[in-house]
Amino acid sequence: MPAIREWTESLWGTSSPYLQVREVPNAPPSLCRDQRVPLRMPTTAEKKALLLRDGYHCRFCGIPVIRGQVRDRIRKVYPEALPWGRTNQTQHAAFQAMWVQYDHIVAHARGGDNSIDNMVITCAPCNYAKWNYLCEEIGLIDPRTREPMRSTWDGLERFR
Ligand SMILES: [Zn+2]
Repeated sequence: MPAIREWTESLWGTSSPYLQVREVPNAPPSLCRDQRVPLRMPTTAEKKALLLRDGYHCRFCGIPVIRGQVRDRIRKVYPEALPWGRTNQTQHAAFQAMWVQYDHIVAHARGGDNSIDNMVITCAPCNYAKWNYLCEEIGLIDPRTREPMRSTWDGLERFR
């Protein structure tokens, strides 16, 4: 559905009308690579804990999300229905938008660590649009101030 791709591109594209950066006093600067927390991504166990805590919904916008491994399982069975090329334009728009990301609220590049408390589940558009900004810099409410969304959505994990 072209509208899904247009929505995604409007969020993370370089000319996004939604991303307006404002200066925040005393915001942590971008750190050199050697100053950052060494391990960038959470472990498999931490990812599982985040998915259970956040209920397979983006903590920013609330859309349901699907892990890349689950997408790959579905793709093996339905390769023509779920294209997944190397570029954004050749990837299935909905599975791209719903791709689980493990987002650092205080970005890794800004000194954020990998603790569960600094991480949330997000969709791909929210993660890539937020990039290394602080929530305050782009007008987002810290999603940790509200409860994760609960529903029967399980990220299609039952697909085998
Ligand atoms: Zn989102």
